[in-house]
Amino acid sequence: MATILATWEEPGKVAIHAARQTVLNGGSVLDSLEAGLTAAEDDPNLVAIGRGSLPNSDGEIELDASVMLGSGLEAGAVCALRGVLPAIRVARWVMERTEHVMLTGDQARRFAIEQGLRPQNLMTAESIRRYEEWLRSPESVAEYAHSVHDTVTMLGEDGGRMVAASSTSGWAYKKPGRVGDSPIVGAGIYADDEHGAAGATGWGEQLWRACASFRTVQAMGRGLSPQEACEETVAYMQRRLPGSRELPCVVLALGKDGSFGAATTKGEFHLWVCRDGGGPQVHAYRPKGG
Ligand code: ASP
Repeated sequence: MATILATWEEPGKVAIHAARQTVLNGGSVLDSLEAGLTAAEDDPNLVAIGRGSLPNSDGEIELDASVMLGSGLEAGAVCALRGVLPAIRVARWVMERTEHVMLTGDQARRFAIEQGLRPQNLMTAESIRRYEEWLRSPESVAEYAHSVHDTVTMLGEDGGRMVAASSTSGWAYKKPGRVGDSPIVGAGIYADDEHGAAGATGWGEQLWRACASFRTVQAMGRGLSPQEACEETVAYMQRRLPGSRELPCVVLALGKDGSFGAATTKGEFHLWVCRDGGGPQVHAYRPKGG
């Protein structure tokens, strides 16, 4: 039976409930993760994913999303995608309908529209208000934005078949064109049926430099449990990338047997877990010794 994980308390709740419903309806793990991320992208109250998220410094929402299957290492991703939802579906289509792994920016949008999505404005009255507030006082609101975590990274397995997926609008008020770890295979997600799956959320530049997800899956390949593998990756980041202690950098992992774990460089992290279609449970993680 299936195990599904989703990051962060508020957005993860939206995602895990939609994913669970898909499992209960007989959908595949891939369909469940897509349904979970689509629901979170569609929720205008979540400010770092999809509709109503906080824009880049030009006032435009740019979305990053990715998906990977552990069975054949197939992967698809989009980055800096504007004005279409759901980004995770476009990433899946890149994987299933093209020979490529990633499409970017306006060309990713063109592909999404060609494949049947309609262009739309993703800004809400609230995201416009917050952007205008940031324009008046860039420092203070940027600091606030760094404490908001609505990126959703999801991992799933069913009978040892692993799937990883992620969707985000990235850092609020980022430089236009900035891409974080979430759509990068090996950084924000990784899945390999030989070892397990891993994902990341938090400060994308640091997680990317550490190849956090690939590193964590490889550690499971050396025999570490998902929890031990996440702790090893976080310890490596704290040693090699001391800046990663300044903001949360989170890794999460799922074993082929449904065992799971997570670790963070800073702050408290909440992970949603749904096993065999049962009621989702939330688990809390803090830095070791913190
Ligand atoms: N990792 C994402 C990024 O850097 C943000 C997050 O997960 O909070 O774009």
